[in-house]
Amino acid sequence: MKIIRQIDEMIGQSAEFRSRGLTVGLVPTMGALHQGHLSLLSMAKQRCDRAVMSIFVNPTQFAPGEDFEKYPRPFESDCEMARGGGCDVLFIPSPETMFHPLHAAFVTVDRMAKILCGASRPGHFRGVATVVLKLFNIVSPHVAVFGQKDAQQVVVLKRMVDDLNCPVRIIVGPIVREEDGLAMSSRNRYLTEAERRQASLIHRGLSQALRLYHGGERSAFRLRDAMNDVYCQATLFAPEYVEIVNCTTLEPVTETGECTLVAVAVRTRQTKTRLIDNIMLGGDL
Ligand code: AMP
Repeated sequence: MKIIRQIDEMIGQSAEFRSRGLTVGLVPTMGALHQGHLSLLSMAKQRCDRAVMSIFVNPTQFAPGEDFEKYPRPFESDCEMARGGGCDVLFIPSPETMFHPLHAAFVTVDRMAKILCGASRPGHFRGVATVVLKLFNIVSPHVAVFGQKDAQQVVVLKRMVDDLNCPVRIIVGPIVREEDGLAMSSRNRYLTEAERRQASLIHRGLSQALRLYHGGERSAFRLRDAMNDVYCQATLFAPEYVEIVNCTTLEPVTETGECTLVAVAVRTRQTKTRLIDNIMLGGDL
């Protein structure tokens, strides 16, 4: 596995792959790698001749007061995991390399960036879209793999790729979970033991909605109600939102349709950790 830190070197490496007729798959991450990230890497490897994983804790997607400084950066173990997962190139640019002091160009994706997670994370999706477009320009991937875990991110980035004609295909990987159903996340390590135990309720609420859906329930109101009944039992976290939305527009629906996203965000009371999770009904992202 080659480790690249400089943008020019990464551009050159991708150009070299492409000149040899090799296809390139990109998996953008912020590191603190877990099996969820590695599952995306294996999808990139299945679809492409070379897999590039990027690790960049992107300062522009964190709002003031969020966890940018304390975000875990376990460099050695990340390298080992990426290597073990078959990564060909690990691209780890520094913030200074990615963002010039005079940086002024940003990508905004209107409408869908200010709802759901965007409502409590101002500027988050502007930061995500900007850094992902930069990564697309640097790595020139044929395919980029993102996780359903960050469903809104997928919807925003697909909008960006379509609207700005980015020559890349977005592939979405399923959510990898712990045994008790909690979605794997680099932020799970912030949780106290008690918060961690109770966090399994997040998925239990979603599973309850899925059970009702499979039993024929289509009313978004009743599905939300059933989820909120589960979340009422939580003493160590509170839901920030429980929403049932159209998977293309992210607008709330009253009835589940062809492609419906059931998304939840919670914040734990003690460590103030923000956790998100979701399921899809009637179609995939
Ligand atoms: P992050 O490092 O949190 O920015 O995530 C990098 C990529 O991994 C994003 O596309 C995420 O959606 C994806 N990802 C994060 N957690 C999981 C998970 N539990 N299962 C699958 N993909 C995930």
